[in-house]
Amino acid sequence: MPSTSHSPIAWGCRYRAPIQLSFSYLTPRARYLHHRRTRELSPTPVAVLNSSTISSGRRLLNPHFMGNSLFSRMEIMRRTVLSRLISMLFYVPKQRIWTGSGVDKNNEMVDQLQRYGVIKSNKIAEVMKSIDRALFVPEGTPPYVDTPAQIGYNATISAPHMHATCLELLENNLKPGMHALDVGSGTGYLTACFAVMVGPRGRAVGVEHIPELVDSSIINIQKSAAAQLLKEGFLSMHAGDGRLGWPQCAPYDAIHVGAAASEIPEALIEQLKPGGRLVIPVGNMFQDLKVVEKQMDGSLSVRSETSVRYVPLTSREAQLRGE
Ligand code: SAH
Repeated sequence: MPSTSHSPIAWGCRYRAPIQLSFSYLTPRARYLHHRRTRELSPTPVAVLNSSTISSGRRLLNPHFMGNSLFSRMEIMRRTVLSRLISMLFYVPKQRIWTGSGVDKNNEMVDQLQRYGVIKSNKIAEVMKSIDRALFVPEGTPPYVDTPAQIGYNATISAPHMHATCLELLENNLKPGMHALDVGSGTGYLTACFAVMVGPRGRAVGVEHIPELVDSSIINIQKSAAAQLLKEGFLSMHAGDGRLGWPQCAPYDAIHVGAAASEIPEALIEQLKPGGRLVIPVGNMFQDLKVVEKQMDGSLSVRSETSVRYVPLTSREAQLRGE
């Protein structure tokens, strides 16, 4: 029987759905303190702050407004000036830190995650710097914003801080030569990171049930630093139901699931090597990121790392129906 322990940080009552506007008002440091308490992965990207979201989201009403047309015009001008001022105050630092393009910006994003303590390991920072996130997000999506993004088919690419968190949790099980499985591999970003970590003596496998996403993930990886590993067969991407794992390359030292399961799939436990670690979001409306460890005697320990929000691990049909 698995022994179960819960860290207080992961209790369901601590869960908060994304607060799109007020969240955008936070300073980068406050955002990270917020993430450390509640790591959210919303299927809807957090709004990028701009003047229209500010002016429509927060009405700056004057309680003394009288209805006179001159006053009315002055009031509108006052609101516009104020909202511009607020947007200048908050918009500029956010843009400077989180958006842009090119490898330098990817490095900057990783540096930020390190500065705020999301990434603690130099190895993880190095790997995330080697895999440019811009190659994995759809065109037109800002690649270095710390938010999930829609990738079609009711799926998302996870936010950079969630990728970093999962890599940190799995670091000791992603040593050179080890086997890693990424269930719900989506864009292929994390599978590529796994492949770079386990290297050419290891094996990284991605399983995704939307064949179109598998095809595009292969194209993404072919442009990345993991291309050679894919070419030589140390990294492979497959279409299939990830709830069944991928027995062909089992047992695995590390298994990551990128979608929330209502319960931990038995096949994934079976395919975990003794000494192996599985990181999986579990739950429906309220989800916890669970860390499952298989001891050398085959017994299991399960703990909750934090509250999260992922898209469901489900059937292809249910996902396409948006359930
Ligand atoms: N980690 C990936 C994608 C996360 S979104 C990334 O960051 O790019 C979750 C993914 O899980 C989606 O692509 C979705 O299609 C996939 N998924 C959901 N249920 C699945 C299942 N039963 N088998 C395989 N993939 C599944």
